[in-house]
Amino acid sequence: MERLRILAESAKYDVSCSSSGTVRKGKDGMVGNTVGGMGICHSFADDGRCISLLKVMLTNYCKYDCAYCINRRSNDIPRATLSVSELEEIVMEFYRRNYIEGLFLSSGVVRNPDYTMERLVAIVRDLRTVHRFNGYIHLKTIPGASREMLQEAGRYADRMSINIEIPKEESLKLLAPEKDHQSVFLPMQQIQQGVLENKEDRKKFRHAPRFVPAGQSTQMIVGATKESDLDILRMSNMMYQQPTIRRVYYSGYVSVNTYDPRLPVLKQPPLVRENRLYQADWLMRFYHFNVDEIVDDQHTHLDLEVDPKLGWALRHPEFFPVDINSAPYEHILRVPGIGVKSAVLIVKSRRFNRITSFHLKKMGVVMKKAKYFITCGELTSSFSQPIIGINELHPERLRPMLLSKAQQKRAAEEQQLSLDFQEE
Ligand code: SF4
Repeated sequence: MERLRILAESAKYDVSCSSSGTVRKGKDGMVGNTVGGMGICHSFADDGRCISLLKVMLTNYCKYDCAYCINRRSNDIPRATLSVSELEEIVMEFYRRNYIEGLFLSSGVVRNPDYTMERLVAIVRDLRTVHRFNGYIHLKTIPGASREMLQEAGRYADRMSINIEIPKEESLKLLAPEKDHQSVFLPMQQIQQGVLENKEDRKKFRHAPRFVPAGQSTQMIVGATKESDLDILRMSNMMYQQPTIRRVYYSGYVSVNTYDPRLPVLKQPPLVRENRLYQADWLMRFYHFNVDEIVDDQHTHLDLEVDPKLGWALRHPEFFPVDINSAPYEHILRVPGIGVKSAVLIVKSRRFNRITSFHLKKMGVVMKKAKYFITCGELTSSFSQPIIGINELHPERLRPMLLSKAQQKRAAEEQQLSLDFQEE
């Protein structure tokens, strides 16, 4: 139990496992199933259920010395290793007792990538073929593992992930001297190729076994190196061009190690920045934004005070107002305060009725924000005074009005702190 505690503790800094996208139906002779389509996770699924994965490492010994990692070889921490059969037994026991719905398995690198990967593959293979485990499996791939190992792992795992960690190779080399981008991108490509070949096979043979059905994910660390949000989001954008990459995760750098001159000294992890990156990622995936609209060479970092969609709107007053009753769906999506669900509702409903601000509120539009960016025929009637939009107010005056009280206080304090009391 003590070894399991150490190994579960060592695995907790990897955020790239929080969601999947696969359904495993119950089968004769197999134990269990997974439900929920897009969204099994170790917190909450789409249908609101809390689902848990056992997140554990096979071993937290590692021969690599990545500066940002608690398990690096130069750290003096309690180490533990489980044997292949011990880990399988724990998973099955937890699964049968309904403690977990799946497994997220990773490992430190021992001897060499393939030696480690072989053990991970043995676990997932045995779980499926010997123990008939039909739950969800997310396998963390070891950078530099061979194609043969990946091909075998992909037959049993639902999702495979390999972390990019740092978007620029020179920074990665500085913090993780044993890793390079080639050792990350090559396995990603090989898994992708396996998925695409499997798709073709399944067209010909309906019962061909699936290969990594929930696709791949990856993770980048935010704030450990000098990379800007532009660098990070361009890398994510490149990843999303690959057909098998489902999610890119952003992990605010947590200072887990004792002083290392290669790393910045942060009082706390950059959580606001991490959150803004997730919002920007969302804009790219669901709101039809190009990465260069969110960040560019003039704005290399996301605005920490306002969300990226509002930030874009404030930089582009010429785009507004958007007429709710006639604008195309893509334009409505760009209005701050309107989400995908309300944009779809607006476009469907306006075929039958002219939309008013009353309807917008009912559809869940955040009118506090949206009212400065839209016209919808009668905006004056439900408000005590005529609405003045972004172009009348100008972005500089509108911006403070849209900041929450807490943000305004923080901005004022920062301004006070930056006052320069130089003597004349
Ligand atoms: S290879 Fe993985 S486990 Fe080993 S030090 Fe680097 S990040 Fe940590």
